[in-house]
Order: sequence, then structure tokens, then C-alpha cells
Amino acid sequence: MKMISYGRQSLDAVDVQAVVDVLQGDWLTCGPKVAAFEQALGKYCGAKHVIAVANGTAALHVAMLAAKVGRGDRVITTPNTFLASANCAEYVGAQAVFSDIDPASYNLDPVLLEQNWTDGTKAVVAVDFAGRPCNMPKIAGIAREHGAVVIEDASHAIGGGFVFEGKEYLVGGHPWADMTTFSFHPVKTMTTGEGGAIATDDDELAERCRLLRSHGMVKNRPEEPWYYEMPELGFNYRITDIQCALGRSQLKKLDGFVERRQVITERYNNAFSKVDWLTCPQIQDDGNFNLTRVAWHLYVVQIDFSGIGKSRAEVMAELREAGVGTQVHYIPVHMQPYYQNKYGYGRGDCPAAEAYYEQCLSLPLFPSMTDEQIEQVIAAVKGLCK
Ligand SMILES: *Cc1c(COP(=O)(O)O)cnc(C)c1O
Repeated sequence: MKMISYGRQSLDAVDVQAVVDVLQGDWLTCGPKVAAFEQALGKYCGAKHVIAVANGTAALHVAMLAAKVGRGDRVITTPNTFLASANCAEYVGAQAVFSDIDPASYNLDPVLLEQNWTDGTKAVVAVDFAGRPCNMPKIAGIAREHGAVVIEDASHAIGGGFVFEGKEYLVGGHPWADMTTFSFHPVKTMTTGEGGAIATDDDELAERCRLLRSHGMVKNRPEEPWYYEMPELGFNYRITDIQCALGRSQLKKLDGFVERRQVITERYNNAFSKVDWLTCPQIQDDGNFNLTRVAWHLYVVQIDFSGIGKSRAEVMAELREAGVGTQVHYIPVHMQPYYQNKYGYGRGDCPAAEAYYEQCLSLPLFPSMTDEQIEQVIAAVKGLCK
């Protein structure tokens, strides 16, 4: 039986042709496809500037540098994320600080964010976990009151949005993040193989991101066209035209991907609604903040493993036997040895993220899943406890 993986890319002949066209052309990198992809993505989400980079981690690193986060600064993020959302702070010599999640949304809890705020906090990295946008107006309200920069790690959330005070905004195109970062890794909602981007409305931040992506090099003497200088240390975080051609092609299908992900999510939610040992993702309104368009990247359930008398490892093995691949998102980042050893983090520091982790399991979710595959997953999961 062929395994259904927890996530995978959706590529078609049009995507392949877009890449082949670049390979047969003049520019493999630093060419017109990069700018075309950046413009198309900016237009899609409503951002003035988009800077495409080598991967989502590079996007976060560049965002930190552009915001001048550095030694002595603190950066608050969620423990329920991939390592990179915290590591970017460490790359620039700042300290990653973990603030616990809200147990219903699995995103940063704004109340705790306010409580955990300390002097020297220069930035917040808010992660739209599983594709569900954070309450960015609330988070930005807290951060900006303290003069901090708001970075939204939307690696999971491209194509999604929210309604605030009756008006709809897309992730990457609302005023409550100074910079929004994306990842185009193949498990994410759209892919360029490896790739990432920063979206911002701020001209100065955009300019800095562009320079930092390419060694910090400035060409500032038109009369001496060979001349360049490096006022600040940058990196080679460029992305290729090959990747951006794929990105441009994928972007045209993003709305379709999002819709199919919503349909699959709905099917799972209906199928599991009466299973008492399993909790589906819940969407709840938060006052004037409403989630009308969630671009689900992951379908994460909470399973009462002790209730059904099986460990998570046993459940994953049993599902694998039934052809269903699963994954765990995420081991709380503050529990990583690096963060435990460096800052003394440990069990109990983020109890909601730790409790969430004990019971979480990501089921397969990707646009090209067939109806039969969806039924296969549902049957296998329900079959865990008969
Ligand atoms: C994937 C991911 C990243 C890193 O993206 P890469 O493209 O793999 O470097 C960062 N943050 C989150 C939340 C992610 O899921």
C-alpha cells in the first residue's frame, strides 16, 4: 500500500514547464523571474514590497537584521513552532524568550505576552500555527505600545486571512505586522523547492532586506558602474529564477490549494465530531477578530492517548500500517537542549504548549489527496479505538 504522507507538494505540468523555460533562458539567478514573483506575491497578499530569499529561515534572519535586533535584545516567540522562529533571534546575538500558547488556538496567548513582557524586548515573532492567523491586532497593540517590532512568521499561513472590525485582511497584507515571513518548503502550502520571502509595507525595511539578502552590498556610484561598497554585513540569501518561476506558477493555484485544504479539513471535522477521545481544530471568534479564511497548513488533532490505552508511538505505527503517515508539530522549542542549557528553560515553563504537545498528532493534509485517501485516513483513525 502506498503511504499517504502528512503533507506533500502539488505540482503539475504547467509548473514543470515554467521551470524548464527558465533553464532554457538566459537568467538562472538574479534575473527577471525573481522580481516577477516578488511583484505577484505582493499583489496577491496586498504588501507594498516582497523580498524573496533562499528559505523561510533566511527570511526570519533577514527580518531580525533589518529591524536591527541584536546583542542584548530579547525576542519573544511561541514555543509551539519550528526551531527557526526562535533561532533567528539567536543568530543575531539576541535572546529568544518563550511565551506560552493559548490552549484553544495553539498560538501565542496575548494575555501572557503582555505579562511576560520585559524591558529590552525588541521584537515579537508571532507564528500563525497550522495556518490559523494569530490575533495580530491584539499582538501588535501590545508590542507597539512597548516600541517593539512585530514580525509575523506566516510560514504556515500563506493565502489565509482574518476579519477585523468587519474588514477582511490577508496574511502579509495587514498593518499589524512590520514584516511577514513565508516559507516555500515542499511541505508548505505552496513551494519553490526551498525558498522564502519577507513582505512589508515599510520602504526602509524593504531596502534593508534587499541589501542584507546580498552581502549588504550597495552600488551607489552610477558614474563608476563597477563600484560597490559594504556598509553592513549581509549574507548570500538569494533565491534563483528557477525557484521563482515555480513560485509564480504555484501562486496562480494558491487559492485552489487553500480551498481544497479547507474542504479536507471540513471532511475530517465532520467525521471526527463525535469521537470523544479526539479533539479537532476549533475556530472561535475573539471579539472583533474573526477567522473567516484559514489556509490550513496542518490538520492537527489532540488525542487522549492514555484514554485509548495506546502511546503516540503505537498510534503512529498502527496508522503507518494502515498506510497513513502522521507527524508531530511541535516539540516545544523551549524544551530543546540548546535553550534548556543556555537559559535554564525546562518542563513547566510553558505548560499549555507542553500539554498540547503530549496529545498532538498531524494527520495527512495536502491538496492532491483523493477522496478515497481522505476516507482511508478517517477509517484508520476511527479504527484506533473500536
Ligand atoms: C518551515 C518553517 C520555517 C522555516 O522555513 P524553511 O523554509 O524550512 O527555512 C520557519 N517557521 C515555521 C513556523 C515553519 O513552519
